[in-house]
Amino acid sequence: MRTITNHMPTAELQALDAAHHMHPFTTNAQLGKKGARIITRAKGVFLTDSDGHEIIDGMAGLWCVNVGYGRDSMAEAAARQIRELPYYNTFFQTSHVPAIALAARIAELAPGDLNHVFFASSGSEANETNIRLVRHYWALKGQPERSVIISRMNGYHGSGMGSASLGGMVSMHEQGNLPIPGIVHIGQPHWYAEGGDMTPEEFGLKRARELEEKILEIGADRVGAFIAEPVQGAGGVIIAPDSYWPEIQRIVDKYGILLIADEVITGFGRTGNWFGSQTLNIMPHIMTIAKGLSSGYAPIGGSVVCDEVAAVIGSDEFNHGYTYSGHPVAAAIALENLRIMEEEGVVEHVRDVAHPHLAERWHALGDHPLVGETKLIGMMGSLALTPEKGSRARFAADAGTAGYITRERCFANNVIMRHVYDRMIISPPLVMTTDEIDILIDRATLALDEAYAQLKSEGLL
Ligand code: PMP
Repeated sequence: MRTITNHMPTAELQALDAAHHMHPFTTNAQLGKKGARIITRAKGVFLTDSDGHEIIDGMAGLWCVNVGYGRDSMAEAAARQIRELPYYNTFFQTSHVPAIALAARIAELAPGDLNHVFFASSGSEANETNIRLVRHYWALKGQPERSVIISRMNGYHGSGMGSASLGGMVSMHEQGNLPIPGIVHIGQPHWYAEGGDMTPEEFGLKRARELEEKILEIGADRVGAFIAEPVQGAGGVIIAPDSYWPEIQRIVDKYGILLIADEVITGFGRTGNWFGSQTLNIMPHIMTIAKGLSSGYAPIGGSVVCDEVAAVIGSDEFNHGYTYSGHPVAAAIALENLRIMEEEGVVEHVRDVAHPHLAERWHALGDHPLVGETKLIGMMGSLALTPEKGSRARFAADAGTAGYITRERCFANNVIMRHVYDRMIISPPLVMTTDEIDILIDRATLALDEAYAQLKSEGLL
């Protein structure tokens, strides 16, 4: 067997990658020609690539490495668990300590009576579970026709057939006949792009009331649940106007439908509380969790379920489960991650130190000629790129060229920001210090300057 290591030349690694590795959400033929960026190591909030660049990670991997990279105690927790019990299942009337301890800890941290956890290995899997939970719950309550789930355009809930259907990504629905039956979408509370002449508050109410309109159109006796991210992440860090969530909560309560908060990104400190539902003052019946649960050190996710739903589901055999539900090594890593977060006061750091400093620097980017809007909640933020300041104008068809160019300039300046069409987004590790935030923003500013110059020289401005 050939040994492939970090020490091989970049070009050789890229050629092997192109020959054998199919990347997610990528035009692989194109990437194969260009060559993937190869990350070899990471420590704290910095990544190192195979050419030796030190890159500050403004995305915490994929919104997940909340406690930063290179934590020895996580490696030790994993090694300890692998030696003691690397695997056992939680089917067939068995359990093990890591799954028990993690479920109990999540129940302590979760708001209200969200006291029960069904484990999965990812956010997608957890949302697949949620669809089945909702439908089985209503069937057990003698209302099997309450099977429709309402979600939102431009939401993201995963890549499975069910979870991608819950999502409102048109580009995903176009591939493979989605959405599956029984999932319908309403508009998103994205005032900057879609609010027209309304004030943000008027628009927030209007978009929330689309939920009520949809419930009435379908028939309240056919609707089982509404799912949404407290803050849309992959859709572009879209923070709803203040009027939105109270109205959603009112409607959900009025019609007695289940509220699922997809906290895959917003969970575990991202918004300055343990959960985004606390920041936005909503009370879900089910929360989807993943990513920050283990800070990405192991694939683990789950559905956190309230007492009543758990009691109903628990009255029958729920014919659902994954080989790796509650995987002991992943659970041990997640427990260590939550221990670190508590011991180091990571949520308090976000609230009292990192967010206030980032907010000052982030909103100051609003003065840049390319930036039309700055949004930030906790440690997740977005910038709208605009060809015409002050007008909320967008680049032609919001095609993403300006965003792509800006992201490339970010890479060139050793900072990772992602683009969603022509919105730049960040979601850095929660442990980022104020000095590191300064490095992030200084490099982002250079990238914006260079992107602005390039857009001008290419006649796009
Ligand atoms: N829900 C949300 C809100 C997400 O952001 C994501 C992933 N970005 C998912 C679900 C899917 O999670 P995973 O990629 O772990 O399947």
